[in-house]
Amino acid sequence: MRAEIIAVGTELLLGQVVNTNATFLSEKLADMGIEVYFHTVVGDNPKRLEELLQLTDTRSELIVLCGGLGPTDDDLTKNVLADHVGVPLVQNQEGLVALKAFFEQRQSTMTPNNLRQIETLQGGLPLPNRTGLAIGCLYKNEKNNYLLLPGPPSELKPMFLEQARPLLEKEFPTTERLTSRVLRFFGIGESRLVTELAEMIEQQSNPTIAPYAKPNEVTLRITAKTEDEISANALLDQTEAEIMAKVGEFFYGYGEENSLVEVVVSLLKENQLSITAAESLTAGEFQATLGRVPGVSEVFPGGFVTYSAATKANFLGIDSTLFDHVGVVSEECAKLMAEAALQRAETDYAVSFTGVAGPDKLEDKAKGTVYIGLAQKGKATIVTENHFTRDRSYIRHSAVMKGLDMVRR
Ligand code: ATP
Ligand code: MG
Repeated sequence: MRAEIIAVGTELLLGQVVNTNATFLSEKLADMGIEVYFHTVVGDNPKRLEELLQLTDTRSELIVLCGGLGPTDDDLTKNVLADHVGVPLVQNQEGLVALKAFFEQRQSTMTPNNLRQIETLQGGLPLPNRTGLAIGCLYKNEKNNYLLLPGPPSELKPMFLEQARPLLEKEFPTTERLTSRVLRFFGIGESRLVTELAEMIEQQSNPTIAPYAKPNEVTLRITAKTEDEISANALLDQTEAEIMAKVGEFFYGYGEENSLVEVVVSLLKENQLSITAAESLTAGEFQATLGRVPGVSEVFPGGFVTYSAATKANFLGIDSTLFDHVGVVSEECAKLMAEAALQRAETDYAVSFTGVAGPDKLEDKAKGTVYIGLAQKGKATIVTENHFTRDRSYIRHSAVMKGLDMVRR
């Protein structure tokens, strides 16, 4: 079944409200095996909404409209739809009882425009509103199916989950469901990932493969369409194995939420290893990132922010004559910072950052040049030389992510 979502509201077009209803509805409809082909936002304008309905009738079998069910003059979704399908609006008796009770309880008088909220399309199935007043509606005619939902997410979500979803499942049973798995990668850009997987992406049909780039990482969502979960997992496992054979070295975790820092912290916890850091250009951002993970204190006792050369000498005991020879932006400095931090904090790992966040050059080193050290108890210190791009905040963020990745490996 082809579905589409229309969000009605000028506030959405003005950028004042984010269209989270479409996100929510798309996800839930996909779970039910209903495919959403379009999202549209239209202002509170009857003519444009009617034009849109004429278009959606030609391409979709379920049209979900959200917003504009309220009592005010700009709430016109129901009126436009009623005109569009050629039926009158009628009062919903249950809604009327609830509306009267609401005003009685508040001991306030109901203005007539409130009655608009309990109107539904004649012949439609009214959807009661447990968390608000505006009634929703599922309306079917020979041409199409329309689902009307209120705009406020606090009303739309329960109405969809409790009223609309069971109705839709009954009216339009689907045997196939979508099951997704999200794979996360670091250290490979989206374009390279797509190039490596070009053949797979080209030939994809089931499961589908969709890449999505975030700052400094890429996620791949693989989605299988099957009748049951067991065959979904088998399909996803197979596709995942093929992906791993090509780009597995960059893979670090599963799921929408699981970030690189969470993966690193849980690895440290599992192996009962501790970590510290000595940071110059990142000025504590690495440690602040660690701090975002609840329970990190088990593995992170604290660390150092050593921005100036003098602080590097004072806090970490680095011989300041080094800075005259090779400068602070150097492999040697990163190595000494990491080793000193490891020794002083008595941890198993220490990460150090020294480099040029920009906008200007430093010690003749170009913006984006960053040395990252990783000292480890009983092992030789590793230092990477990196050349990050873009602006100051992106360079600092890139350094933090790279430091986390060095610990993970
Ligand atoms: P009300 O009775 O509150 O007027 P309504 O059904 O008429 O409800 P709207 O007037 O369109 O809904 O929107 C009310 C509020 O709901 C908006 O100001 C906004 O905060 C939120 N809202 C509307 N549409 C969306 C959307 N697509 N995504 C997220 N929030 C939305
Ligand atoms: Mg409104």
